[in-house]
Amino acid sequence: MERPCAWKKYTPQQIEELEELCRGYKQFLSENKTERLCVKAGIKMAEEAGYVNLETVIAEGRALKAGDKVYAANHGKDLMLVNLGTAPLEQGFNILGAHVDSPRLDLKQNPAFEAGDMAYLDTHYYGGVKSYHWVASPLALVGVICKKDGTTVDINIGDKADDPVFTISDLLIHLSSEQMAKPAKDAVDAEILDVIVGGRPVKFDEDDKDAPKEPVKQMFLDILKEQYDVEEEDFLSAEIEVVPAGPARDMGLDRSMILGYGHDDRVCAYPSMLAQINVANVERTSITLIVDKEEIGSVGATGMTSRFFENTVAEIMTLAGESSPLALRRALARSRMLSSDVSAGFDPGYAGKFETKNAAFMGRGLCFNKYTGSRGKGGSNDADAEYVALIRDIMDEAGVDFQTCELGRVNAGGGGTIAYIMAEYGMNVIDSGVAVLSMHALWEVANKADIYEAYRGYKAFLERA
Ligand code: MN
Ligand code: MN
Repeated sequence: MERPCAWKKYTPQQIEELEELCRGYKQFLSENKTERLCVKAGIKMAEEAGYVNLETVIAEGRALKAGDKVYAANHGKDLMLVNLGTAPLEQGFNILGAHVDSPRLDLKQNPAFEAGDMAYLDTHYYGGVKSYHWVASPLALVGVICKKDGTTVDINIGDKADDPVFTISDLLIHLSSEQMAKPAKDAVDAEILDVIVGGRPVKFDEDDKDAPKEPVKQMFLDILKEQYDVEEEDFLSAEIEVVPAGPARDMGLDRSMILGYGHDDRVCAYPSMLAQINVANVERTSITLIVDKEEIGSVGATGMTSRFFENTVAEIMTLAGESSPLALRRALARSRMLSSDVSAGFDPGYAGKFETKNAAFMGRGLCFNKYTGSRGKGGSNDADAEYVALIRDIMDEAGVDFQTCELGRVNAGGGGTIAYIMAEYGMNVIDSGVAVLSMHALWEVANKADIYEAYRGYKAFLERA
């Protein structure tokens, strides 16, 4: 039972729709390389579509009714979009979920140092990365510096055409015989992922007793002070992410794919948000949930295990006149969810890691993983067969190309998503998403047909589930 390649069926008009969607996605991906920026961009998309901040609704003491559209943000890193349906909320919601944190290097709290007449910023990696990917490549610094006076300085250096970029050096091949003999995991020690940010000292008099001991680092700090009005100590309260520099681009002579940083999991988040705002009137309330911290276990105040989702649902149900705790529990248990995250695209170069009957192929449409987990489905949300049947029916009715898949061969490895956390409410959840190549590398590959089918599948789910 082989699934067809989605490209074969497209009409010229569908190709145009696909390209328009992917143009928007490339821009989203290029401009929003942190979870904070993704949430900001999501709020802008929602507001332009008529969504109102839930805090405003609460402050004005307004009631919510069918047809109302609201959004709620959490610490600037999670976003929930809600489109109230005509059915009582107690009957449950149709929920799309995806994450917008991506693997990267975070600056340490005390990052700056000087060595070999160069200035550096030290990092601690975030999520699952292969250290050797990060060397000898152009990098950007994106994030925020929060100052004691309560102001926040946005940092975004390396992506504009005339911006400087940064890099982490690698050892020259001529001196690498020892390094090349190491297992790949040890070839580049994560502790030496230090970003070079300067190579020119401040001018000083050699005889001056107060001359800076680290004049190149001093130059870096002086420029920061001048351009951003921040001090070295301000790094203590900063969140700056080191990410690949440069935009997402069409890939392949046929322009069928997109090479970009952060497909995991913005390639699911963007089409989810777009489907949410493009669905007008619904019977069952539709919700799109964009979350942080998936890559490190969905922990913390902005991870899926926080109470943000449940609390926000309680707020909305109260404003809609369904305030009982039991109604809330019923609504959660009766909800249906597509928990979206990227799938491992079949890679012919590493064919032995896949079992092809149950692998995700690039261009064959939206992926559904009945279960994820690793080594005996460990840690997996295993969707009910009944729910998978419902999903198949919705996708077939809407003419959405989809495929079912597993992450690699049995016992090959595996990974988790946010699905099992939502399943704790008793709701039906299935893992879905877009296949990518080079997952967690600096530049990941996605196929435009899969992005388009994901968008169509998400829309069909919100309208029909
Ligand atoms: Mn992911
Ligand atoms: Mn991931």
